[in-house]
Amino acid sequence: MTHLRSLLYLLPLAVLTTSAQSPTPQVFGYRDFTQQAKWDETFMAVPDPVLAGEHLKTLTSAPHWASSPEDYATAQYVAEKFKAAGLQTEIVPYKVLLNKPIQILIEAFDSTGAKLMSGPTPEHVNPNKNGGDPFQDDPRILPAFNGSSPSGDTTAEVVYANYGTLADFQQLAKLGISVKDKIVIVRYGENFRGIKTYIAQQYGAAGVLIYSDPADDGYFRGDVYPKGPWRPDTAVQRGSIQFLPIYPGDPTTPGIAATPDLPASKRIPADKLQANQPSIPTNPLSYKDAAPILKALGGDESPREWQGALPFTYHLGASTKNPVAKVTVHMHLEQDIALRTIWDVIGTIPGTNPTQKDDWVVAGNHRDAWVYGAVDPNSGTAAMLETVHGLGELLKQGWHPQRTIVIGSWDAEEEGLMGSTEWAEQHEKILAHAVAYFNTDVGVSGPNFNAAAVPSLKQFVREVTKEVPSPKGGTVYDQWKAEQTAANANRRRPRPANQTDSEVRIGTLGSGSDYTPFIQHLGVPSTDIGSDGPYGVYHSTFDDYAWFTKFADPTFVYEQQQARVFGLEILHMADTDVLPYDYQLYGKEIVGYLESAQKRATEQKLTLDFAPALAAAQRFAAAGTAVRATETNPPADPTTLNNALRAAEEALLNSTGLPKRSWYRHTIYAPGEFTGYAAVVIPGVNEAIEAADATRAQSQLRTLAEALNHSAAILEATQK
Ligand SMILES: [Zn+2]
Repeated sequence: MTHLRSLLYLLPLAVLTTSAQSPTPQVFGYRDFTQQAKWDETFMAVPDPVLAGEHLKTLTSAPHWASSPEDYATAQYVAEKFKAAGLQTEIVPYKVLLNKPIQILIEAFDSTGAKLMSGPTPEHVNPNKNGGDPFQDDPRILPAFNGSSPSGDTTAEVVYANYGTLADFQQLAKLGISVKDKIVIVRYGENFRGIKTYIAQQYGAAGVLIYSDPADDGYFRGDVYPKGPWRPDTAVQRGSIQFLPIYPGDPTTPGIAATPDLPASKRIPADKLQANQPSIPTNPLSYKDAAPILKALGGDESPREWQGALPFTYHLGASTKNPVAKVTVHMHLEQDIALRTIWDVIGTIPGTNPTQKDDWVVAGNHRDAWVYGAVDPNSGTAAMLETVHGLGELLKQGWHPQRTIVIGSWDAEEEGLMGSTEWAEQHEKILAHAVAYFNTDVGVSGPNFNAAAVPSLKQFVREVTKEVPSPKGGTVYDQWKAEQTAANANRRRPRPANQTDSEVRIGTLGSGSDYTPFIQHLGVPSTDIGSDGPYGVYHSTFDDYAWFTKFADPTFVYEQQQARVFGLEILHMADTDVLPYDYQLYGKEIVGYLESAQKRATEQKLTLDFAPALAAAQRFAAAGTAVRATETNPPADPTTLNNALRAAEEALLNSTGLPKRSWYRHTIYAPGEFTGYAAVVIPGVNEAIEAADATRAQSQLRTLAEALNHSAAILEATQK
């Protein structure tokens, strides 16, 4: 999976930093950066493009779906590299619920009963044109399916529902078109795919087909693979439709670790998994298979903005007003749903500072793929292995980190962040004072560096990128900034009033990758980094080594860059004197979130008292400003200060969690119930306003004020 960092750019961000940008000899958190600068230099000389390319080639030599023997082979490869670098290494198994497709049949008929299509069509490109694709015929490739879809045999009329957002379903209802007992065909994009099924199910649909429209990542964007990087007609986007915004991880064990020896009585039985598992069959389709269905579909013309790039006018399907030209689809999905073993690889470098060694620095990337996963996720794994290579070189030269470093190679992320969630749930106690989680998923799909982070770590990420050279010249930071400035100049929408050009923009953590259990369940400050480009083969067979070396990073220099940035994040956080958390910016952003929420409440004509929450946010922001002064001029022994800085983030958790989804405990960030990938900020408050529920909104404002006051008090105590 991926969090689609680039899409986050389209979201309005409340507040932007204006902090100074010129590189100074001082790096935030260090009393004296001289020694660290030397280690950084030694480290940066190690990550090797050629070796990264070899890792990628090995990791993607076979399809390695989570729990398969080929997946286990990749775990062994990663474990060997960890050991060779001197990390204490173990392969950690969990037993999680996964569906594996046995038979997938989708066929469509017109109103005369004539067959329009029968699929799925195998993913295939012409082997004799533009180099073909050397990996497409492997018999181990599973048919395209959606993780967490139930089995089912259903035949029903079809309705087209655009992207399948809540607004799309509401509009269909307004147009008098019912989706009840129908099969809904929706296109990928806009929201997390599981949300499409989540909403369709609430509207009473019998099944869902999710197809990739060429407007979104196919020929409408540019030449298709193998000529160009975009999605060819047979390529299918697989993916999980688990109800991730309710809770991620193994569906049968929310909140506890799905260890192999966990008694069955501790697991939720299969027939009681409705909160997290869809009840209606759902399957992805290529645009080759979707086109005949959409083309034959009658009824009213779709709203013009629902039109995709297939060469005919899109219609909505039969309505009571317009009952002609029905298309009927038969879906037959047979899934083998069972507890299966998955394998995380965990590598540890023990810290040496007696008061800080238990404050872990965790970094990770998933390893499992829907098929070959060259970009998603093994571009991240290949880079991470070169990061580990660099750490190993430092160990050989006598370096030891102050804080313990833990590196995770997660399994079954694609099915619903399973490997990371189960591990985080198992180590909840110690992770309560972990100082950071650094994620990478898609490490490299192109040359444009991009990041998302909690506000307290935005400055930290920028500083790290100022140290790493870019293959394009200058630093990663320079190129990142230049690229964003160019993109901003091309924006058609006016910039938000409070946005300035003086700092590069860092996105907000939503979900769709492994940082979710760390930040949103446990309150570990997190970042997510990678380097993006035109990438149309997401979750298809063609996300393979041939595509990668043609379009993403032929010489692996962006792999090297990724290994360096990821490595410096780890090194700095492991050895910094004072935890480099920027609560000043965090406070400003939260005040901005509350002001926007207040505006929305007024628009919705909800009468709410924002004063206590706003006062708490102002207090938190003021405490953040005060503590920043202390952080730049710390006491001789910073232990108490560090503990307070970490506790301030933990105080933003609410132990009872969000309404309807108690696994999500963070009061500032969660994946949106109706968006999935994109973050909802101050989620308890905003989702209650969205639902026009004043009572719930007021109670969530109270909860938020309590958390902010608690956190502010912790920061204020450092000033006494
Ligand atoms: Zn991924």
